[in-house]
Amino acid sequence: MDKKEILSKFSTDPERYYNVKLFENQGFERKSCMICKRFYWTIDENRINCPDHSDDTYSFIGNPPTKKRFDYTQAWKEVESFFTKNEHASVSRYPVVCRWRDDLYFTIASIVDFQRVMGSKIVFEFPANPLIVPQTCLRFKDLENVGVTGRHFSSFCMIGQHSIPNSHGYWKDQCIDLDYRLLTEQFGIDKKEIIFVEDVWEGGGSFGSSLEFFVKGLELGNAVFTEFQGNLSNYKTLDQQIIDMGAGLERFAWVTMGTPTAYDCCFGPITNNLLQQVGINQNDELLATYFTKIAKHMEQFDNLSDVRKNAIKSAGLTDEQINKIIIPLEGIYLIIDHIRTLIFAISDGALPSNVGGGYNLRMMLRRIISTMDRLSLKFDIDEIIDTQIDYLKNTYPELEKTQEDIKTIIGIESGRYENSKLRMEKIVSKLSHKPTVDDLIRLYESDGITPDYLKEMNVVSDIPSTFYSKLSELHQSKKQKKQDQVSLEGLPETQLLYYGDDPKEFDAKVVKSFDKYVVLDRTSFYARGGGQEPDHGTIEKLEVVDVKKHGNIIVHELKNGIPKEGSIVSCVVNSKRRDGITKNHTSTHILNSSSRNVLGSWVWQHSAFKEEDHARLDITHHSALTDDEIIKIEDLANSVVKKNISITIENFDRGTAEQKYGFKIYQGGIVPVKSVRIVSIGDFDIEACGGTHVKKTDEIELIKITRTKRIQDGVVRIEFVSGEAAIDYVKQHDDDLIKKSAELKEKIELKEKRRGQKQELREKFPILVDSITQSKIGTNIVDEIIIDMTDPGKPNFCSTMSDQYDEFFHISLGEKLIEKDPWMVYCGIFEDGDKVRAIIYSGAQAGKGKKAGDIAKTVSEILGGTGGGNQRFAQGGGKDKSKKNDAIEKAKTMVLEV
Ligand SMILES: [Zn+2]
Ligand SMILES: [Zn+2]
Repeated sequence: MDKKEILSKFSTDPERYYNVKLFENQGFERKSCMICKRFYWTIDENRINCPDHSDDTYSFIGNPPTKKRFDYTQAWKEVESFFTKNEHASVSRYPVVCRWRDDLYFTIASIVDFQRVMGSKIVFEFPANPLIVPQTCLRFKDLENVGVTGRHFSSFCMIGQHSIPNSHGYWKDQCIDLDYRLLTEQFGIDKKEIIFVEDVWEGGGSFGSSLEFFVKGLELGNAVFTEFQGNLSNYKTLDQQIIDMGAGLERFAWVTMGTPTAYDCCFGPITNNLLQQVGINQNDELLATYFTKIAKHMEQFDNLSDVRKNAIKSAGLTDEQINKIIIPLEGIYLIIDHIRTLIFAISDGALPSNVGGGYNLRMMLRRIISTMDRLSLKFDIDEIIDTQIDYLKNTYPELEKTQEDIKTIIGIESGRYENSKLRMEKIVSKLSHKPTVDDLIRLYESDGITPDYLKEMNVVSDIPSTFYSKLSELHQSKKQKKQDQVSLEGLPETQLLYYGDDPKEFDAKVVKSFDKYVVLDRTSFYARGGGQEPDHGTIEKLEVVDVKKHGNIIVHELKNGIPKEGSIVSCVVNSKRRDGITKNHTSTHILNSSSRNVLGSWVWQHSAFKEEDHARLDITHHSALTDDEIIKIEDLANSVVKKNISITIENFDRGTAEQKYGFKIYQGGIVPVKSVRIVSIGDFDIEACGGTHVKKTDEIELIKITRTKRIQDGVVRIEFVSGEAAIDYVKQHDDDLIKKSAELKEKIELKEKRRGQKQELREKFPILVDSITQSKIGTNIVDEIIIDMTDPGKPNFCSTMSDQYDEFFHISLGEKLIEKDPWMVYCGIFEDGDKVRAIIYSGAQAGKGKKAGDIAKTVSEILGGTGGGNQRFAQGGGKDKSKKNDAIEKAKTMVLEV
C-alpha cells in the first residue's frame, strides 16, 4: 500500500478524514497548493500555496512571529505547562537506548516508548492517558546535514502527545484543538500563521490520516491518527486507536527566537561560548541571510552541496566569509550537536564500539575530533560536556548522575582514536583513487577511518550524501532474532511447577510424544532460556537431555525412547545439577551489579550462560579488566553473598515495573509478556528474569572469578564459578600454588647448591687435574671421572657422565687437561633440561688423529641429535638419555683404538 494512494483516497473525503471541529469553529478553509496541489487548511484568505511553496517560508529568521522568546529549556516548560493544565500526565523521557525493542538500537520517536513486542506483534502500553513526554530521539540517517542546514540534529527532543480515545483520552477534534491552542494561547502565535497540511501515515499493517502543522514554512509537528488496518479496498477501524502527535521542541524554540539556525537557541550558553572563542558574531546579519537561503534551497535541491553552493551564491558570500565564518560555524554546530547526542547515549548505557549501535557513536566522536583538527579548534571537550549538562539538567536532571562517566568514556575513546592515527595515515597514503561511497564504508568498517578524517586529510572535499544513510541501514537490521518453529498447535499451556513449589519429583500426564520429544501437562523441568541451561533428570526412567520452551509449551527431549501419549509418568529432576545452575544464575545477577558499581554506569549485561559447574557473564565495558578491578568486583560480590540478603520475586504489569524500577530491569533483554517477573536482591540488583534463583544469598557460599577476557570491542567476558565449585576451585588453586611454590623453592635450592659446588671445584681443580694427568697406565677413577692412560706418545682418554658435573665443569676440566697433556682427549656428558649434551676436547698431539669434531658428531648421533666442532673443541648432544653410556663407550673406542 502506497502512501500516495492512501492520501489521494482520503483527500476525496475530507469531511470524514480531515475536518475537525476547530476548523469549523474558527473558519478554517481547505485549499489546494497552486504548485504541488496538496490540500491544507488555513484562515488566511490571501494564502494560495502550501507552506513549502509560500513566499514567507523561513521568514521567522530575524523576525519571529511571537512576542516572547523561548529557548529549548523554556520552550519545554511552556509545552509542559499547557498540557498539564489540560489534564495530561507529563512523563519523563525514556532511555535513548531502546532496551524494550529488539529490532531497534535507539529510540527514534516518542511513540516507540510505548510500543512493546509480543511475538510478531507490536502492542501499545501507555503509563497514562493522555500524556506528553519530552523524548530525546536519535537519528543517524542524515548526519551530513548536521551543522550545515540549521535544522538537522543527530538527536532532538520530540514532544510526544499521545492519547487513546476512551473515557480518559480523546480523538481528532480535541487533539487538533489542543495543538492549535498550544500555538496561539501558550506561544502567542497569530492564528493566521498556522497551517494544517493533510497527510497520511502507514506502517506495521495499520494506517490513518495525519495533519502536519506549520508556522512560517517551518513544520512544528505532525498529529498522526492511527485508525485503520487492512488494505485500501477493505479496511476496518483498529481496536486500539492511537494519537501519535510528534513535534520538534527545537523548532518551537527556533520559531520563537528567530535565530539564524535552530542550533543557536537549543544548546544553551555553550554555542555562544565557542563562537566567541573563534571570533564569530552570532548576531551577524549575514548569518540570518545565509541560513534563510539555505532553508529555502533545501526544498529546491536534493544534494546538500548544491544547496550550500547556491545559498552561498544567492547570499553573496565572499571566499573569506566562507572560510572565516561559515566553515568554522558549521564545525562548531556539529561538535555541539554530536556531543549532546553522546551525552544522552552514554548516560543511558551505550558505548562507542565497532558493533551494533555503538558504530554510530564512535563515528560521531571521530567526526568531532576530525572537525576540531581540520579547523584547528582547541576546545576542551570535558568543558563542553559540563556546560551542556548544566543546561540540559533543567529538563533532564538524570544526566547529572552520569556526568563523570560520560567524560571518562569520551576520554578513553578519544585517546584510542589518537593512537590509531598513525596507522590511519599509512592506509590513507596508499589510496590510489578518489574513494567511492562503498570504499568509504569499507574504510570505516575495517579501519575505523571516517570520511571526516579523509576530509581533514584533503582526500575528499565533500562527504557523499548517501554515506550515512547507507551505513545506518547496514547497522540497523542486524538486531534480529530467529525463532525456531515446532508445530505444537492446539496443545494446552504447560503448567510451570518450577515457579511454584518446584518439586524435584512429580507425576504428570503425557500430552504429546513424538520423535524423541515429550510434552507434559505440568513440569518442574526448567527449560533452556535467558542463558540458563536446562534441567536434566528422568521421565519414566528415560533420560531427559534437553528442555525447550515454545511459547507457553515446554518440550522435553529424551534419550532411548519416549512414553505413550495419555500415560501418567513419574518424573525426577536432577536436583544437584539444578542447584549448581541456580547458584550460578543468581551469582550472575550479583556479579552484574557488582561490575556496574566497580566499573561505571555503562556496564550492562550483554549476555550470560549458566551451567551446573561453570558460568559466564558478558558485560559491556570499554577495556579489558585489570587485576585490581577483578578483585574489587569479586570482593563486592562476596560481600553481598555474606550479607545473606533475601531474594524476592514479584510479578508486575510490565508498564508498572518499568515506571517503578526503570529500564535497568531489562538486563537479560526484552520481556515478551505483559506480566514481568521482577527478581530483587534487596536493592542491590533488580531485574526482570524468568530463571531460577536461590532464596538467600549465602546459599551461594562463594563466588570466584576464574578468568576474564575482552571478547569484542566493548564487551568483556567474566568466567566464574560459585557454591561448591568455587570452593573446589579455590582449594585446587591453593594446592596448585603450594605445589608451584615448592617447585620454585627446590629450584632456588638447586641453584644455591650448584654455586657452592662450583666454588668447591675451583678450589680442588688443580689437584684434580694433577691426579688425572699423573695417573699411570690403565684405568683409574677419581670423583666419578674415568681415566684411561695408555703408553706415552699415544692418545689418553678421560670421561665422565656423573650428574654432579655441569657445563662449566666440563669446559674448565677439558681446557686444563689438554693444556697439561697434549695427548689427552676429554669427553664430558651431562643432562641439561630434557636434553643430554656432550663436550669434547682433544689435545694438540691427540687431535691430529682424533679430532674433537669427529668424536662429537658420532657421539651426538648415538644420543639422537647432531654435533660438531674443530680439531680441538667440539660439542653436541641429543634427547636420548638412555644412550649416555653407549655414547661414552663409542668415544672411548674411537680414541683408544690404533
Ligand atoms: Zn505546495
Ligand atoms: Zn535471574
